[in-house]
Amino acid sequence: FITLGIETSCDETSAAVVTDGRNILSNIILSQTEWHERFGGVVPEIASRKHLESICAVVEKALLEAGVGFKDVDLVAVTNGPGLIGALLVGVSYAKAVAYAIKKPLIGVNHIEGHIYANFLENDFEPPFVCLVVSGGHTHLIHMRDHGLYEVLGRTLDDAAGEAFDKIARALGLGYPGGPLIDKIAKSGDENAIAFPVAHIKDGALDFSFSGLKSAVLNFLNNSRQRGVQVKVEDVAASFQKAVVTALVENTLEAAKRVNSKVIALAGGVAANSRLRGELLNRTGGDLEVRFPPVKLCTDNAAMIACAGYYRYKQGFSSDLFLDAYANLRLF
Ligand code: ATP
Ligand code: MG
Ligand code: FE
Repeated sequence: FITLGIETSCDETSAAVVTDGRNILSNIILSQTEWHERFGGVVPEIASRKHLESICAVVEKALLEAGVGFKDVDLVAVTNGPGLIGALLVGVSYAKAVAYAIKKPLIGVNHIEGHIYANFLENDFEPPFVCLVVSGGHTHLIHMRDHGLYEVLGRTLDDAAGEAFDKIARALGLGYPGGPLIDKIAKSGDENAIAFPVAHIKDGALDFSFSGLKSAVLNFLNNSRQRGVQVKVEDVAASFQKAVVTALVENTLEAAKRVNSKVIALAGGVAANSRLRGELLNRTGGDLEVRFPPVKLCTDNAAMIACAGYYRYKQGFSSDLFLDAYANLRLF
């Protein structure tokens, strides 16, 4: 059973061919970073235009690499939210046209569900488990009880973890996207150099807050500049990263305990963070297991969309040609 996945929610134009929901035959990811980095972030109008220019070639390349043709495709799965509306519309319109032309079913996929499903690619992992979803726009702790069945255990009250990485990287003059750059430079820094605050939410809620940490880092940088003190960028990056990871890991372990789950999974771009992966591996073991997708499947890609779409379709869902894109499409 061949699924063609299409993802255009942000600044990656991606198409993938996946068999039986899990086996990747191809996963082409065309990143637009070079077009956005000079602006320090994604420019929505540029993103839409670049998707439009690339989508046909990216899909053709995915089919070619997989060694299949449009006629072999059994299902077209496309991200229809959340994301940038103009960017989403390119993928959704394209997917509808393909499904109509080849007379095959179409399924709209929630981008965040796609991130979670990256964990199922190329292996036989199954729910239930606790999942820490940490991406550019989302930070959620969820209990995935079964396919398509989610319970929210905690969420960020302000910034998403990836957003915090990107903003701090920008303040440090590292560039865009910030997460991978902080991850890299932090390796040569002292993470105990500066004690940045870790937010603890009252009432035992498993929520997160990163705006206080962000302000603390920005204040530290401003104060240092005013006093003419040279900051060590590596140390600030490492200390900031430690504070984020501590908050994420504490809540995730507590969540697993509360719902009595022996398996923890990571999802979303920040799941690529080496410090986060390492800390969770250190803190688990024995009868508590941690899983995460390979780095390339943590950030936006169409294979995860094909996987999530396949499972939704197998559960009896499908979309029609009236499928629309929604910037704030909700999963939970
Ligand atoms: P969303 O999925 O919430 O709609 P998005 O699609 O923009 O947002 P993703 O592609 O899932 O986000 O992830 C991108 C985010 O992940 C960026 O904020 C980026 O800085 C962060 N990121 C990527 N790699 C790393 C890393 N190694 N360490 C920390 N953060 C990282
Ligand atoms: Mg991106
Ligand atoms: Fe994403």
